[in-house]
Amino acid sequence: MAKPGYRVFETAVGEIRRLSPHFVRVTFRGDELRDLGWDGPDQRIKVILPLGDGDGDGFGHFPTGDDWFGSWRALPDERRNPIRTYTIRDARPGQGELDVDFVAHGDSGPASRWIARAEAGERMLLIAPDATADEPSGGWEWHPGDASTLLIAGDETAVPAVSAILEQLPDDAQGAVFLEVPDAADALELRAPAGVSVQWFDRGGDAGPVQEYGGCLVEAVRTWADAWAETARRDGIDGVEGSPVAAAPADGPETELPALAEDEILWEVPEPARDGGFYAWLAGEATAITTLRRHLVKGLGVDRKRVAFMGYWKLGRAEG
Ligand SMILES: Cc1cc2nc3c(=O)[nH]c(=O)nc-3n(C[C@H](O)[C@H](O)[C@H](O)COP(=O)(O)OP(=O)(O)OC[C@H]3O[C@@H](n4cnc5c(N)ncnc54)[C@H](O)[C@@H]3O)c2cc1C
Repeated sequence: MAKPGYRVFETAVGEIRRLSPHFVRVTFRGDELRDLGWDGPDQRIKVILPLGDGDGDGFGHFPTGDDWFGSWRALPDERRNPIRTYTIRDARPGQGELDVDFVAHGDSGPASRWIARAEAGERMLLIAPDATADEPSGGWEWHPGDASTLLIAGDETAVPAVSAILEQLPDDAQGAVFLEVPDAADALELRAPAGVSVQWFDRGGDAGPVQEYGGCLVEAVRTWADAWAETARRDGIDGVEGSPVAAAPADGPETELPALAEDEILWEVPEPARDGGFYAWLAGEATAITTLRRHLVKGLGVDRKRVAFMGYWKLGRAEG
């Protein structure tokens, strides 16, 4: 049987570092992490959270073996460890280390509760890409091909992915990055090529005026995209309806959005290796990201195959 692209890694919490009011970096350590694969900059992993049932280290019921997933799903709620999705912010497989930047958003979810009380030395299990596998992990979505204009937008949950994406961009990359975070002090230092502008927006902090999730992000991206589309049409840049050189399929650019159920988390990514023109990567709270995607695709006529959009979480809905 082929070895699957992901597997469970046994780790321990190494350092815990508060980067800002809402970002906490955890370095996970373990010999097994020497086999960690890291295929793309927005590589996702799963963090298995300990049960707080007073039973040992909180992983006493977590199944082992090849069919751990089926066994885990069959467990009763009170014995099923919560599993949440995160991004590899950085990794040093040679040293058996992996960093994850957690957003601390209060006590509404098991991951956020855990980060508030996590301790160095604590046992943790991660599901992550296995470099020794026969199959690729497939768990990453940044596929700009050789796009000439990049639009990257996300909220705090996408900041780790965006940070890693920016670090691996070529020096001559061109584009704009928009990031929304809870507090002005959550604007982290990022390394970006000179041709890529980075703008931060904040919701005024915990004590400040409460802004709608994604409100500033949507407004800023819309303004930028409207101006950009205007220029693209005028100059004939690939991928926008009305552009003289738009690489539209015979039946016109694909602007239709898929029909989705109300509670479905939105996720649509183009095929890799689209050449030239425009490429957008949008990730964060599902409603805000959907609004942005709709504006690009429906409003401005951008070919949907040039827009990767990922609902990383949904307000009022727990993952899993
Ligand atoms: C591919 C991918 C990569 C991701 N990478 C990261 C990452 O690197 N760092 C990171 O912090 N998150 C990341 N996320 C988002 C993270 O998985 C969710 O925020 C997750 O819901 C957190 O789990 P929880 O147990 O804290 O809350 P849940 O139990 O899932 O949710 C409980 C409640 O909290 C709300 N909630 C969830 N997240 C937030 C939030 N950030 N702010 C405010 N309210 C929230 C939910 O709407 C719900 O009402 C990623 C998600 C995906 C899909």
